[in-house]
Amino acid sequence: MTGTIYLVGAGPGAPDLLTLRAARLLERADVVFHDALVHPDTLALAGSAQLVDVGKRAGRISTTQAFINRCLVQAARRHQTVVRLKGGDPTLFGRAQEEIDALIRAGVACEVVPGVTAALAASADLGISLTRRGESRTVAFVTPRTGAGESDGDWVSTAAAAETAVIYMGVGEAERVSKCLIAHGRSSDTPIAIVANASLPEARAWYGTLAELPALAPAGLRGPATIVLGEVLRARLGATRGNEMKHAVAERVEKPARAAGGEG
Ligand code: SAH
Repeated sequence: MTGTIYLVGAGPGAPDLLTLRAARLLERADVVFHDALVHPDTLALAGSAQLVDVGKRAGRISTTQAFINRCLVQAARRHQTVVRLKGGDPTLFGRAQEEIDALIRAGVACEVVPGVTAALAASADLGISLTRRGESRTVAFVTPRTGAGESDGDWVSTAAAAETAVIYMGVGEAERVSKCLIAHGRSSDTPIAIVANASLPEARAWYGTLAELPALAPAGLRGPATIVLGEVLRARLGATRGNEMKHAVAERVEKPARAAGGEG
């Protein structure tokens, strides 16, 4: 007899951006294998579960994927309800397919429970729509990050062609991201925002142009951060520029109205 593994999206950070389905599964979970950035209030829902942190930590190498896969299979042989809790949506930039494939190979039942991905939390905090009538009908979620031995893929041409692009895991490589996109024909004047800690009280955003991107993120930026790029940000850029601050404008994104209000 084996249990079921649920690959569950924990959402972008705020504990109330969890689906009801995820909350109910956590409440009856026997074991929860979770990423490092999952909010303590979310973990607290799993009152009767054994919690296993398999995430990355500063100064510690992440638990290897093969090890996580083995743990999941073993747990399914011992328990009825096993939750693999991943940040945002489990199927975006989270190696979910490797886990799904390992479970299928081992004959373990597996279900995916979607979550609110970082891109959606970022656009919500910015107070902008990722699509806009007449301006943006395409949105790309991309990452410049590759694993060891992987080829670079085609993230650049996709992000350059999409009207709106959301770049995951790109802030640490801001210079390369900016250069590659400009080399692929994206205007250096394209508005961008970096959003850090989207959905959390400490959320912040910095606005600028694609050319300014490398200088935008402050040194020592803490927490996960995402780059949003596209004309849908143009009005926001104008508003913060109107503050007479230079390009590295830091605004608390929990109150995007302040950006507009700062004009007058
Ligand atoms: N599966 C996750 C993404 C995992 S990759 C999801 O769907 O959101 C991790 C990257 O996601 C981070 O490097 C960052 O680019 C982005 N990210 C995750 N949480 C974030 C947050 N609260 N604010 C901004 N970016 C975030």
